[in-house]
Amino acid sequence: MALYVQKFGGTSVGSVERIKAVAEKVKRFRDNGHQVVVVVSAMSGETNRLVDLASQINDEPTPRELDMLVSTGEQVTISLLAMALQKLGVPATSYTGAQVGIQTDSAYTKARIQRIETDDIQSDLDDGQVVVVAGFQGVDEEGNITTLGRGGSDTTGVALAAALKADECQIYTDVDGVYTTDPRVCSKARRLETITVEEMLELASLGSKVLQIRAVEFAGKYNVPLRVLSSFEDGGNGTLIIADTDDEEDSMEEPLISGIAFTANEAKLTLLNTPDVPGVASRILGPIADANIEIDMIVQNVAPAGDYTDFTFTVGKGDYKQTMKILKEQVIPDLGGGELRGDDNIAKVSLVGVGMRSHAGIASKMFRVLADENINIRMVSTSEIKISVVIDEKHMELGVRALHKAFGLDKDDIEQE
Ligand code: ADP
Ligand code: ASP
Ligand code: MG
Repeated sequence: MALYVQKFGGTSVGSVERIKAVAEKVKRFRDNGHQVVVVVSAMSGETNRLVDLASQINDEPTPRELDMLVSTGEQVTISLLAMALQKLGVPATSYTGAQVGIQTDSAYTKARIQRIETDDIQSDLDDGQVVVVAGFQGVDEEGNITTLGRGGSDTTGVALAAALKADECQIYTDVDGVYTTDPRVCSKARRLETITVEEMLELASLGSKVLQIRAVEFAGKYNVPLRVLSSFEDGGNGTLIIADTDDEEDSMEEPLISGIAFTANEAKLTLLNTPDVPGVASRILGPIADANIEIDMIVQNVAPAGDYTDFTFTVGKGDYKQTMKILKEQVIPDLGGGELRGDDNIAKVSLVGVGMRSHAGIASKMFRVLADENINIRMVSTSEIKISVVIDEKHMELGVRALHKAFGLDKDDIEQE
C-alpha cells in the first residue's frame, strides 16, 4: 500500500465529465489498495473570471479581498469531486486550505506555506476516506484566507506530500509530462523521462508554467518524489523530477541543453544618459524594490565618454506602468536627468541544461542561430546552467523553434539517432 498525493489542474477538472473522470481515476488507485489525498485547482478559466470580476468593481482591490474571492474557485471543485467519488461508492471528504490547517504567512496573493497540520488528514485516511483538499489556498495566523500565487495548487500538492511523507506526489495535467519546451509552441518538443530539480527550477522560474516554482523548491528541499503525468491518458510514466546529480560521469553524458523556456510576461525599461557615478544603480533600483517590484535582468552600458551611461532592466509586465511612474516621478528628478524608454513587447527565451556547465560555445551558437533567423538580441544574461536572451515578442515562437532544432532537441532528430 502506498500513499499518493494527486493534484489535478484546471483543465483536468474543467467540466462535469472531467470531474467524473478524475473520480474514476482516483477510485482505481484506491481499489488497488492505495491511500489517496487529492488536491484540485479551480475549473479552467475560473480564477481568471474571478480576477476579472474584481477588476470590474475596483481596479485596485485590496489583496485580502482578492484572495477571499479567488480562493472560492477551488471550493467548488473540491465539493464536486467529493460528490463524484461518493457517487462511485468511495468515501470522500473535502476540505478548504484553512480547514485542513495549511498555515501561511500573510503575503496575500503570494503567500508562503509555513506549516501543515496533518493529524486530521491522517485520521481520515486511516478511516478509509479519500481526502480532497483545495489547492492554491491557506490561512494566516489571524485566520485570513490567503492564496499562493498563480499555479499554486502544485505547491499545495507537494507541500502536503512532504508533510504526509507520501510515497509520491503526482501532478496530473493536460500534457503527459515535462517536455523539452512547451509542446503547444513547438510540435517537435519531446517528453523527458526525468529532469533534475535544478533544471526544473530554472525552467519554472524562466516561464515554463507546467510546475509552479515553489512546488519544485519544496520537492527539492524535502526530497518529495514528484511526477508530472497526463490526466487524460492512463498508463504513461510521465516525467519524474529527480535529485540533482554531482556525479562527473553522469554529467558528461548529459545533453548540453535539456529544455527551452520562454515568457512574454516581462517589460524592459531603459534610462538613457544617467550619470556614471557610484551609487546610481541603487538610486535607480532602490525605489523600485521599495515598491515590492521584482527586477529580473539588468544591463549597464560602459559609457564611452565615461560620464554618462545607459541603464536597462526588466520587470514583470504587470509592474510595467508602476515602474515607469516611479522612474518618472522619483528616480529621474533624484538623478537630475536621464531619458526614459520602455518596451513591453519583449520576450525572454532561455536555454537550460546542467550539461552546459562544462561546455563553452553554447552562447555563441545560440546567438548565431538567432542571427540566422534575423532575430535581434536586446539583452543577455547567463548563469551556470542557463542562458537567457531578450528579443522582440513577435519573434518568440520562431526563436524557440529554431533553437530547439539547432540544439538537437527535435523529436525526429532524437528518434533517428
Ligand atoms: P494545470 O492547469 O494542470 O496546472 P498548466 O496550464 O498550469 O496546467 O500547465 C500545463 C501547461 O504547461 C501545458 O499545457 C503546456 O502548455 C505548458 N508548458 C510550458 N512549458 C512546458 C514544458 N516544458 N513541458 C510541458 N508543458 C509545458
Ligand atoms: N486556480 C489557481 C490558478 O489558476 C491555482 C492553480 O490552478 O494552480 O492559478
Ligand atoms: Mg498549473
